Amino acid sequence: MKAVFVDRDGTLNVNTGYVGDPADVVIVPHAARGVRALNDADFAVVVVSNQSGIARGYFTDAQADAVDARVRELLAADGARIDAMYRCPHWPADERAAGVPECDCRKPKPGLLRAAAADLGIELALSWMVGDRLLDMEAGRAAGCRCVLVPGVPPHQPAEDMSKAPPDYRARDLADAARFIIDTQHTGTQRPAASPRAGSR
Ligand SMILES: [Mg+2]
Ligand SMILES: [Zn+2]
Repeated sequence: MKAVFVDRDGTLNVNTGYVGDPADVVIVPHAARGVRALNDADFAVVVVSNQSGIARGYFTDAQADAVDARVRELLAADGARIDAMYRCPHWPADERAAGVPECDCRKPKPGLLRAAAADLGIELALSWMVGDRLLDMEAGRAAGCRCVLVPGVPPHQPAEDMSKAPPDYRARDLADAARFIIDTQHTGTQRPAASPRAGSR
């Protein structure tokens, strides 16, 4: 099976910062249309999301579940289906307290994509990652996927230098990303996975 891995905050829903309340969920313009197009093109749509707000104690795993459910519900109301959602609840590498082990799932690591691939039978070489941050592009490439960057809603400040993991395409929005993926899915081959970089995040 082929999949499109999609970042959540800033890509599917407006990133209001550590989104922990389902009442705060607002879907990004054109996101539902993009997901729907991917559904129709037989891509599994799998959300992969860093949620360090859980490690930080800003919200619980159950609250994160409620936000995920609201994202799914609002998209479904527009005919768009999310097939699975994976999250990393851990600390960023550079903010962990001493003695807390580093996880292998926080993007830019490819752990969430690999876990989904194992669970769902996804062929990573046929799959794509779409997100609004450098770490999304890094995670996608590390997993052997092709990558599409969308503008964050709101855009990340300061703007990030994408030269460490240049996207295959810079889309206007998620609908444009889906169009590009569907049009080019059969062309080219995946790039070699990026080699791990010390100090990247
Ligand atoms: Mg994001
Ligand atoms: Zn993690």
